[in-house]
Amino acid sequence: MAENNLHERLDDYVNDLFVHEDDALAWIKAETSRHDMPAINLKSFEGRLLQMLIYMLGARKVVEIGTLAGYSAVWIARALPAGGKLYTLEKSSKHAGVGDRVELLEGDAHDSLRKITAKGPFDLVFIDADKGGYIDYLAWAVDNLRPGGMVAAHNAFRHGAVLAPENDDDRTIQAFNAALAKDTRLESTILAVGDGMAVGIKR
Ligand code: SAH
Ligand code: MG
Repeated sequence: MAENNLHERLDDYVNDLFVHEDDALAWIKAETSRHDMPAINLKSFEGRLLQMLIYMLGARKVVEIGTLAGYSAVWIARALPAGGKLYTLEKSSKHAGVGDRVELLEGDAHDSLRKITAKGPFDLVFIDADKGGYIDYLAWAVDNLRPGGMVAAHNAFRHGAVLAPENDDDRTIQAFNAALAKDTRLESTILAVGDGMAVGIKR
């Protein structure tokens, strides 16, 4: 059996047992393609992973960089306790509303992050936007997380291309992972779920 195929079957196995994608989440995915947005939302089991991280952290205040249509935002928001808050940052004006507990900041994340600094410190910063911004976003996260808080970055594997980069984004993620690994302010690794979730906990 091809290894890829084994991974896909194991992802399906996890999905069937632990992951419930309801109508609202399925609707967001449908809207994503209806509005000509790329289908680069998280996989459902990756959304579930984020929820588990939120539960483990006891996270109440979360920043997401890269909203798209709000698919991952809904996974995150649903795991927050009452009174919790998600700030989700998106430069494109194409996006779905994501409901209460969630504040959408439209515009380039570099600017929006500056605007929410005063709302910190944060429990979790989830990075899933332009790969060229990842290293800046990491720097912001380290400065604005509480001790014990986590930065999590999607696409750490680039579907395998971190092993043999083919373009600038692949090389940028390689550099990001290396920067994360050697940052002594963080305990870090890559969780090998889906396309790889790079995680660092602030000491
Ligand atoms: N997290 C989403 C997918 C995000 S796709 C989900 O799982 O559903 C990446 C998003 O980042 C795109 O919508 C893109 O418009 C946005 N983006 C790219 N560069 C950005 C920037 N500089 N600032 C804010 N958002 C940006
Ligand atoms: Mg992604």
